[in-house]
Amino acid sequence: MQRNTEQKIVEETSSKGYKLRYSPGDGYYSSDELRIITADPPFEPSKSKQRQAIEFLISELGEYHIKSILATHPQFVDPGENFESVACNLCGEPLKMDDWQEFMSTAHESKFHELSILPKCCDKETSLNKLTYSWQAGFSKYRLSIIGFNPNENKLAKLMDQLEKILETNLKVIRAKY
Ligand SMILES: [Zn+2]
Repeated sequence: MQRNTEQKIVEETSSKGYKLRYSPGDGYYSSDELRIITADPPFEPSKSKQRQAIEFLISELGEYHIKSILATHPQFVDPGENFESVACNLCGEPLKMDDWQEFMSTAHESKFHELSILPKCCDKETSLNKLTYSWQAGFSKYRLSIIGFNPNENKLAKLMDQLEKILETNLKVIRAKY
């Protein structure tokens, strides 16, 4: 299937970063959003790779609104309403929301470049990016987002495989709801 997508991708450069946006005229909206982030938070794909990635998604999922976003620094990419709880990845103990928020505000001061933390339950260093979020969440500078898309695992695995080849990095999936 070959679509003429070239003129449908809108490019935006601002102080917040670099964005490629695809909006089909009669695009589908829902409260689900599939967010694909890099496993390595500061990883930055080249502009041509970013374009290849969104073009690939449009060729597969042209009926959805799709965004490719490169922010100026890593951001916390959360699952929206799906966010429930977070636990220590070393011992499994749930983190108190107050403690987690304190770690988050300290990390925010470094614009999420410094993600190491020392949770109270363990006397060992870990990372905000390694904690066990009850719904997958993570930190990344680059992300792709597909509005209204909530695929089954099989379909998703095929897309991720292709995207990891295009972007040449490991990716994580976040199923968000709003
Ligand atoms: Zn622990």
